Amino acid sequence: MRVLVVEDEPDLASAVAISLRRDGYAVDVAGDGAAALERLLVNEYDVVCLDLNLPDTDGLELCRRIVAQPVLDGGTVPKIIMLTARGGVDDRIRGLDQGADDYLVKPFSLGELHARVRALVRRDTSATSAVIERAGIELDAGRQEVRVHGVEVDLTAKEFALLRWFVLHPDEVHSAERLLEHVWDEQADPFTNTVRVTISNLRRKLAAAGGGVQPIETLPGRGYRLRSDA
Ligand code: CA
Repeated sequence: MRVLVVEDEPDLASAVAISLRRDGYAVDVAGDGAAALERLLVNEYDVVCLDLNLPDTDGLELCRRIVAQPVLDGGTVPKIIMLTARGGVDDRIRGLDQGADDYLVKPFSLGELHARVRALVRRDTSATSAVIERAGIELDAGRQEVRVHGVEVDLTAKEFALLRWFVLHPDEVHSAERLLEHVWDEQADPFTNTVRVTISNLRRKLAAAGGGVQPIETLPGRGYRLRSDA
């Protein structure tokens, strides 16, 4: 899951980014509207945390563009959480009307932000709690725990993030480029074999815990797929 944090208060932006990264999200930060638009053109985000009160741009106008641009390009509209000042009721209502999915009133706790992000990314799936089950894999996004047929698997933060992407998008073929786009952030070097190495470690651990059954298949030349019927 790749998150863009649009926030002009550097301390808040970095606290949000650090805590989301700790939970395995790939996070980029934009300090104003122009920087946000630049990143939205280049990268495909799953979630945008959007401060409505920005120095250079009307946050509501930015919200409208975040929703409109992918529709024009045939891409996927990211989920939007507005970060608003206390009392900005009219702004919140207008933001929700323009396609934002949720809002948080400042000051908010990072724990609450995490819970909202988790709720948004599973909204498109049938999962109703922080625990997602697929192909014998039980992934608890709240506790950062994974079980395969009841056996706990010890994963790194990046392996966990990768597996979360697979269980939220089962039966779809994901190329290495697509995985790099959604599971890694701007700091990742696209020319390393980091995706391949992380996938291979994840597959090894899943197979070991699942008695040799491999839920993530490799499709040569195309990518990887989590079989929900595995
Ligand atoms: Ca602000």
